[in-house]
Amino acid sequence: MNRRPFNFSAGPAALPEEVLQQVAQEMLDWHGSGMSVMEMSHRGKEFVSICEQAEADLRELLAVPPQFRILFMQGGGLAENAIVPLNLSRGGKVDVVVSGSWSRKSAQEAGRYADVRIAADAKSNGQRAIPAAAEWQLRGDASYVHLCSNETIDGLEFHELPDLKALGCDAPLVIDFSSHVLSRPVDWSRVGLAFGGAQKNIGPAGLTLVIIREDLLGHALPICPSAFDYKTVAEAQSMYNTPPTFSIYVAGLVFQWLKRFEYGGKTGLAAIEQRNIDKATLLYQALDHSALFENRVAPDCRSRMNVPFYLRGTHDTPELNQAFLDEARERQLLQLKGHKSVGGMRASIYNAMSLEGVHALVDFLKDFETRHG
Ligand code: PMP
Repeated sequence: MNRRPFNFSAGPAALPEEVLQQVAQEMLDWHGSGMSVMEMSHRGKEFVSICEQAEADLRELLAVPPQFRILFMQGGGLAENAIVPLNLSRGGKVDVVVSGSWSRKSAQEAGRYADVRIAADAKSNGQRAIPAAAEWQLRGDASYVHLCSNETIDGLEFHELPDLKALGCDAPLVIDFSSHVLSRPVDWSRVGLAFGGAQKNIGPAGLTLVIIREDLLGHALPICPSAFDYKTVAEAQSMYNTPPTFSIYVAGLVFQWLKRFEYGGKTGLAAIEQRNIDKATLLYQALDHSALFENRVAPDCRSRMNVPFYLRGTHDTPELNQAFLDEARERQLLQLKGHKSVGGMRASIYNAMSLEGVHALVDFLKDFETRHG
């Protein structure tokens, strides 16, 4: 088979080819069961074994401590914007650090259930940098503090999670890690709850991951739907209602792919993190050296996963943007259009994107510049 095109989609995003092949092979008959995973009872021994293995592998990869529960839920990141305050706000105060479009949406939704304060807003930095933690306006009696650790649209990433205790705040930290989960380790000592949709770095859409510290279970508001009460879901081992079985299965294969992934003399998460660093460095360097393209984010806040870029100054015309996307597609470089709210281009270079893919994009950027710059 010819090489597949390089797919820079922000999500649902490219999956490792090896995993797709395995899914194809197992599609009609999973491990001699005579069934596709899609056709199995979620309570049967086959699917229970798939689900338990996926959870164990995820726990190992992300070094999730024993006092945290891993929940496989549905509804995506946007549903979590409501489910988190329904479970954790206790009807009280919620502080949100707004670093881009997704955390802004989280603040709006939480405002339906709690007294929300924007503790800091990257808008004050022209959306180019995350405000320094020392400047955040945190309330001592907040039920939790929310941030989006990687802003998929704006391309801003927290390279280190804040230590809220050191900032004089005892509230648990909630992170939306949808678009960089499993791209690097998580410092669980600083986190109370992490959530993320699967469709970028984990597997097909439909699965939402929630990793929650046990002491945060059991505080849901009475209006919280039972299927979204973290305690109910945890007690039922994520099977209070039918979980997204096929998505969990594919996610499990991605976890196994990650566990055996090797790069730069490393294995597993350390290896994928190193490759992610190398890919991002290559692409940002090319953009910074270009007279035609630019990325506008401050270097210490740049996302390793989502790289928005724009044509500079007078070059930034609708015609030239379109020419870029058309030529890119001809070169088998797919889905580089920026999010409609910000325009321009965006290369999402999640775990499944190879170094070769980023080299192909950089070669194209240079080539396009010599012809149109
Ligand atoms: N948070 C982040 C960081 C995202 O990137 C997205 C999706 N792009 C969402 C939340 C919303 O996710 P969903 O569409 O799964 O609700």
